[in-house]
Amino acid sequence: MDNYFDYAAGTPLDPKVLKAMEPYFIDLFYNPSALYDSSRRIKSDIRSSRETVARILGARTSEIIFTAGATEANNLAIKGIMDRFPDKNIIISAIEHESVVKPAEKYNFKVAKVNQKGLLDLDNLAKLIDEDTVMISIIYANNEIGTVQSIKSVAELIEEVRQRRKKSGNQTPIYLHTDSAQAVNYLDIHVSRLGVDLMSINGGKIYGPKQSGLLYVRTGLVLEPLILGGGQEKSLRSGTENVPAIIGLAKALEITDKLKKKESERLKNLQTLFLNLLKEKGVDFILNGTAKNRLPNNINLSFPGKDNETLMILLDNAGLMVATGSACSASSQEPSHVLKAIGLSDEEIAGSLRITLGRQTTEDSIKRLVNQLKIIV
Ligand code: PLP
Repeated sequence: MDNYFDYAAGTPLDPKVLKAMEPYFIDLFYNPSALYDSSRRIKSDIRSSRETVARILGARTSEIIFTAGATEANNLAIKGIMDRFPDKNIIISAIEHESVVKPAEKYNFKVAKVNQKGLLDLDNLAKLIDEDTVMISIIYANNEIGTVQSIKSVAELIEEVRQRRKKSGNQTPIYLHTDSAQAVNYLDIHVSRLGVDLMSINGGKIYGPKQSGLLYVRTGLVLEPLILGGGQEKSLRSGTENVPAIIGLAKALEITDKLKKKESERLKNLQTLFLNLLKEKGVDFILNGTAKNRLPNNINLSFPGKDNETLMILLDNAGLMVATGSACSASSQEPSHVLKAIGLSDEEIAGSLRITLGRQTTEDSIKRLVNQLKIIV
């Protein structure tokens, strides 16, 4: 695993998470909605997982909706609100994940700029908010360049809008959603401290199972359901619960919460080591996105005049796995809208690599990657 540098695309399952999930495949397979005793035990275990998650987020259990990953959570947040206010508008940032961009595009939407460092232009966002803006969705930590937004500042701005509307008699609500899929391992995800109304989390990025996740929905918010059926998850996404995934998500969140501080420091040091070694070796590169306000595990570089696919393949041949963009958009062959938004030229985008670190990354693995990059670049 120390040859893997694509943790933003996916993380291996923590063995402790697997152990927690295992009983729910065979021995404890019962449908949690059934009424016999064995099944009630499953329902109670789901409740415990919901309590664990709620505690870590500083939320109430009734505010947690388990989903199949962050794509679904983002869709539920945006469609859930916007289907109730189809004549109103939503503002997203220029560096959102596709699972926010695509649903937002179905409605009246506007895009708030980021600066060249990849940080949200708050003045631009403030100007875009009009009397009909009902939702704002800002990615907490970007999946390509790792830039971290001040969600609290956005929440404060929204609070000002709410107060203005109250005075002027505009009854249109305004809600803040954040996609925190990449943030959970390293940043504060306490919903009240952040001031968010909706927040998406992804198990597949926190050493939990893929297709596990949740949407935090602040009490009082009413959403249109995403999936109709038997009424599970407060009727917002019906379907028999994926019990092992829910158990695994809660366990993964518990573990990552405990490791957060130590792992952030460790990876920050490895990130610095990588950049220093690459400089020392005289490799010509540009760091995309701000060096400050950045996830400790993200390194996004452009190598001027180089082709990232060739670099990626050569590294792969040497047994080292990196990404040319986000895994989801890499297959579309479209130049990254995130790198475009921070002002990179097509040539700089064509020469960009995303290197993301994680629990199995060591000093030795960093040195190996730098040495190989020196040879290849
Ligand atoms: N949001 C962000 C920021 C992501 O990085 C990802 C995954 O790459 C997603 C949402 C979607 O996650 P999934 O494909 O697991 O639903």
